[in-house]
Amino acid sequence: MIGIGFDFDHTLGVDNGLERQALCAYAEELGRPLDPGDAAWRTRLEALLADFRADATTMDEMMRRFAEALGARDVSAERWRDICYALVDTLVSPVDGARETLAALRARGVPAAILTNGWTPLQQKKIARALGDDGLALRVLVSDVLHVVKPARAAFDALVDALGVPRERAWYVGDNTRGDVGGALAAGLRAVWFDWEGQSYPQDLPPPTLRIGTLRELETLIENSIAP
Ligand SMILES: [Mg+2]
Repeated sequence: MIGIGFDFDHTLGVDNGLERQALCAYAEELGRPLDPGDAAWRTRLEALLADFRADATTMDEMMRRFAEALGARDVSAERWRDICYALVDTLVSPVDGARETLAALRARGVPAAILTNGWTPLQQKKIARALGDDGLALRVLVSDVLHVVKPARAAFDALVDALGVPRERAWYVGDNTRGDVGGALAAGLRAVWFDWEGQSYPQDLPPPTLRIGTLRELETLIENSIAP
């Protein structure tokens, strides 16, 4: 039996820049509206979020920097969190074939889990919104609880434990070449590169075990892996 771990963002679901949109909505609420077409602001907000996602800053520190950049006072992480949650229903949707693929895995009894970088309550709400009942049976591992961020080996070690299969029978599916494919291969897993957004594959990385353009192609992998 194989086990399959999945990245979430841009692999099973998309959130249309939810955290950035929540920062913009908060700026507006604070009376400091940002021009959505302003590329410089967009870059600044993405830089703030990138440090937070990489666990280089806390949420409170990110919001302190956000307040400083806006010249605003009384900015709270709690309020930003609530704005994020409120946007989940409108901004999050499944990637084509995600729910069907997870349902096929469950029907075949293939262990599956999600390993995602982010903060747990938001990732769980996004997963529930995108995958509905098809996501309920999945173990969800989030970097803020693991205290380790992909591509670190320890993140994939936790995934192998969660899947409960030997490491060489653990597969990881993700869109990100370094964080997902590079990290999984370096940790001794097999890696599926979900190549659907026209990225190029870095020449200094070992090639993925498998490249797919749609999630439904995973059904062939499943059939081949459990055939007698
Ligand atoms: Mg991703």
